[in-house]
Amino acid sequence: MRKYPLYIDGKFLETPNSQIIINPSNQEAIASVSIAEEKEIELAASSAREAFDRGEWRTLSFSKRKEFILKISQGILEKAQELATLESLNVGKPIKETTFMDIPSAAQTFDYFANNFEDFLKEEIIDIKTQIASCSAKIIRQPQGVVVLIVPFNYPLLIASWKMAQALAAGNSVILKPSILTPLSVLELAKIIDSSGLPKGVVNILVGGGEKIGQLLCSDKRVDMISFTGSNSVGRKILNYTSQNIKKTIMELGGKSASIVLADCDLELAVNGSLCSIFLNCGQMCTAMSRIFVDEKIYKDFVEDFVNKTKKIKLGNPLDFQTQMGPLISKEQHNKVLDFIEKAKKEGITLACGGKTPSDPQLQNGFFVEPTVFLDVPKEAQIFKEEIFGPVVCINKFSNLEEAITLVNNSDFALAASIWTDNKELAEKLAQKINAGIIWINTYGMFFDQLPYGGFKQSGFGKELGKVGFLEYTITKNIMVDNSFEAKPLINYWYGF
Ligand code: NAD
Repeated sequence: MRKYPLYIDGKFLETPNSQIIINPSNQEAIASVSIAEEKEIELAASSAREAFDRGEWRTLSFSKRKEFILKISQGILEKAQELATLESLNVGKPIKETTFMDIPSAAQTFDYFANNFEDFLKEEIIDIKTQIASCSAKIIRQPQGVVVLIVPFNYPLLIASWKMAQALAAGNSVILKPSILTPLSVLELAKIIDSSGLPKGVVNILVGGGEKIGQLLCSDKRVDMISFTGSNSVGRKILNYTSQNIKKTIMELGGKSASIVLADCDLELAVNGSLCSIFLNCGQMCTAMSRIFVDEKIYKDFVEDFVNKTKKIKLGNPLDFQTQMGPLISKEQHNKVLDFIEKAKKEGITLACGGKTPSDPQLQNGFFVEPTVFLDVPKEAQIFKEEIFGPVVCINKFSNLEEAITLVNNSDFALAASIWTDNKELAEKLAQKINAGIIWINTYGMFFDQLPYGGFKQSGFGKELGKVGFLEYTITKNIMVDNSFEAKPLINYWYGF
């Protein structure tokens, strides 16, 4: 079995404690990873701090910095097939998804920020002239310092790459903490980073208990920023830790996203797009459209097609290119999703299909759940309000647009939404009224490095990607020179006896 060490201060480090990582589609052990305890956490914090304060990374010429980051992108592409296989084995997501989405997108993100950070970091000059003052200010952007990147289990390499590409391009040193369930692709990334020759201590990767690593690093004075993607319950804990020493934090949290399907839509596109929007990655997507609101005029046709196609989704071995849905990530998540379903059934909510573990003998050792569709779900039902993070969708009808918007906005979350219609003008008007950070019109899940991503309300704050997301990883300085008459500003005369 493959063994993975930690990566700290430019060295691969085996520790006395290790954890077995399993394949969620059959519970077989696939690797063993070293676990960080206090000693390694301390080492990572001091190494990242030292690299930032006295290392060369932040002062390196932009062209050299770009070269290093492009090498990481290239390294990912060179190992793309191996990484896709590993990601599918560890996360359980179909190889078609990891091959065509996760891995190439991760490489692309490093490439994009390598090619654009210089432009994003351009200083701004603002000249101010008033009756009493004349001055010139230079607004500059500098790195935050030491940034702790905490990523969830569902897109391990991709979300780590988003955070790392932006943080490194801005000149920071980082400590990356993947989920204990899915650390393998990120530990492979450590090898790529190491062979890129990045100065030691600029990237440190720790695997271990979230509570221990989180508490120690998020309250540590040597850490300047936390970039967190994960659940609301952990997000709340992190905000508690960071409150001890006040630090910049961005929070990309959960969702209960919704689609609106209008009567004039291309029905085939709306059904096919909506299937992807809830069943890709077994529904384990923060932007999963777990609520679909359909105009009553086409509700029957939409539901019929949606349910027929859902029943045909092929569950199976994630490494098989024919597989369309893999397992959930863990026994805990499996039980949680089945509990949501059982409760909904007990409440008498209409189950159109799925709602149980599949009977296929080949799938009995994995954490599989059939793709599940509930219809006409009461607004107060738990499955309607809470994030399930599994392949479970609620489809309801609406009779007018006001009602549709109210239904979509009636959520504690505000991450994403999709609108399916032929009327783009109307879609844009609806988009203005919908509470969500990302609104897709006639599509779903199109993430681009150029575009900011992130929600609000309980879905968190701060952005990833785009110039706006990149600038989160920087501090802004205002450097002002007084150009007043004879270079004597007004304050010269205040106490100037
Ligand atoms: P999680 O919150 O359980 O874990 C996320 C990360 O936090 C992991 O690395 C975990 O080890 C770490 N962690 C656990 N306890 C910690 C603590 N006390 N202090 C610091 N770190 C700690 O989330 P998950 O189950 O891995 O991922 C699913 C959740 O992530 C869902 O709620 C989903 O919506 C959310 N998510 C959000 C986005 C987004 O961009 N908004 C993207 C993906 C996933």
